[in-house]
Amino acid sequence: MKNKPETPEPADAAARRAVAPIVCYPIDTLPAPEMDRYRAARLDLTLVDELVVQPRDAKCWSLPAGHFCRIVSIEGSQVGDLNFWNAHDLNERFYSGKTRALHGTHVSTGDQLWSTIPHIRPMATVTHDTLDWYGWDEYGGSVHDVIGTRCDPYTNDILNCVDYHYCCHSNLSRALAGYTKTDVRDAEMLVHDVCNVFMATGFMPETKQYFMKASPVRPGDFIEFFAEMDLIGGLSACPGGDCSTGHSSDAAACYPLKVEVYKPADGALEGWVPSKPNGYSRTHGT
Ligand SMILES: [Zn+2]
Repeated sequence: MKNKPETPEPADAAARRAVAPIVCYPIDTLPAPEMDRYRAARLDLTLVDELVVQPRDAKCWSLPAGHFCRIVSIEGSQVGDLNFWNAHDLNERFYSGKTRALHGTHVSTGDQLWSTIPHIRPMATVTHDTLDWYGWDEYGGSVHDVIGTRCDPYTNDILNCVDYHYCCHSNLSRALAGYTKTDVRDAEMLVHDVCNVFMATGFMPETKQYFMKASPVRPGDFIEFFAEMDLIGGLSACPGGDCSTGHSSDAAACYPLKVEVYKPADGALEGWVPSKPNGYSRTHGT
């Protein structure tokens, strides 16, 4: 947390600190999602699947390319931990770090969720977000972060010396194991850093530690994704509930989350193609 330097400042420390930052990954050359087409398509949608994720549990579902998926708050303020996998190759999964590098710490309408190396391509595009009004709060926080990892029983063991089984990592592991009919120890290796749906987070001003605060989500709110490829989704209703106090225990009030999958009208996506494989040769200079 860099609060006790042991090395004296050099004479030009102020000048070095005063250098202005530049964006690491300018996205001007990134192919933009076809938002006009998506906005038009989402006006005529047919619900084809829905499921409810119970508190402190997770579910997986199929999300075919060209479909829309909403994660909906239904009973109370509740955050969700979201994973996406390529339905045909579970080793290709959502890459929160690269998504963060491209789109910033929190995502909303127009941002895309990217997949892991060696694929790095859009898996999904955010097409609607009823919490987009939140913007940035006075603490520098916002909603739907791609900073956090997921609450997990291993970190909980280190910090609190308890064996708690309903962290998001374990919930997603159980759900994926059930969905793919594999052993939970194999499934957990495919669970990955999440998109923290509805969670309000940021960094503390002094220490830059990851913070959370009560989610602004209320029943009826939703975030909507467009599937850029055939996906399996996984969502955990975090044991932190609205994440106003803690997580990784049964202490917080928790509520279910609803997942809805919608198909656009025939012809609405005519000419649209799913995400193409990344163009890099993978020879790495050899
Ligand atoms: Zn969690």
